[in-house]
Amino acid sequence: MFLSLLTCRETIARLDDYLDRELSPREQTLVQRHLKICHHCTQIFRFEADLLDHMRQKLQRIEMPSDLKERILSSLPPEPQHTEKADL
Ligand SMILES: [Zn+2]
Repeated sequence: MFLSLLTCRETIARLDDYLDRELSPREQTLVQRHLKICHHCTQIFRFEADLLDHMRQKLQRIEMPSDLKERILSSLPPEPQHTEKADL
């Protein structure tokens, strides 16, 4: 399998899974490559990533039983900092 470039449509179709860390390493690389060269998709990616971040921060501030909070937080994708370590 060689690494080709994804089209915008293919990238956007994978964005949710990318944010959820559910793509294979190979597909993750393909999305990352596309995001590096495509401003349009980067904007969509940022928007979705921000939205997730926002939800996470909101949850931190809401008063609720901590076990419930933990359950919701663990259902969200992991923090973005871990992305950089993906093997390329
Ligand atoms: Zn694109």
